[in-house]
Amino acid sequence: MPETARFLVVLDADSTLIRNEVIELLADEAGRGAEVAAATEAAMRGEVDFATSLRSRVAALAGVPVEAFARAIARIEPTPGVRELIEAVHARGGLVGVVSGGFHEVLDTVAPDLGVDVWRANRLVAADGVLTGEVDGPIVDATAKADTLRQWASEHGVPAHLTFAIGDGANDLRMMEVAGLGLAFNAKPAVRASADLVIGRVDLAEVIPLLPR
Ligand SMILES: [Mg+2]
Repeated sequence: MPETARFLVVLDADSTLIRNEVIELLADEAGRGAEVAAATEAAMRGEVDFATSLRSRVAALAGVPVEAFARAIARIEPTPGVRELIEAVHARGGLVGVVSGGFHEVLDTVAPDLGVDVWRANRLVAADGVLTGEVDGPIVDATAKADTLRQWASEHGVPAHLTFAIGDGANDLRMMEVAGLGLAFNAKPAVRASADLVIGRVDLAEVIPLLPR
């Protein structure tokens, strides 16, 4: 990874970088997929506090064996156009970051496979080979996403106006506000309403024409 970058593109993970919501794939392992999917929808629409919602959804994962991560990873579908977008960012001297309210246990495989340069997510607590239903450390919420975008920009010498944030959920709005350009992708109504630009097609290659040449 280069020390400095011309520009920075930060993507959300679930339903942005990938088509899935990883917490739903993990909840399926506990037989609680539908319930957790409904709670995730409400959180992404911005109807409930993200951190409170995440803690209660993670509690539903208690007892899921850590081998479930490999099964979840196998079910992940990268979003159409994601490889083209990441190649284009790199070809133009940019850096790609992913900041997620999801989990390092999955992103640590998926992000490098797709060519992402830096990533940050939550960590799940496990004991004796099973999830305890707790999140380890502070939650990556909307504020943490915005702070992470600013931190990566400053570490790599990227001015604020050359930062791009791409997301679908209410917890992406703050990073979209602090970015030079905030893009709603595959997004909930509240996110579309506040974004600088809305990308309607589920194809991340649509972002390429917006990048610096
Ligand atoms: Mg998302």
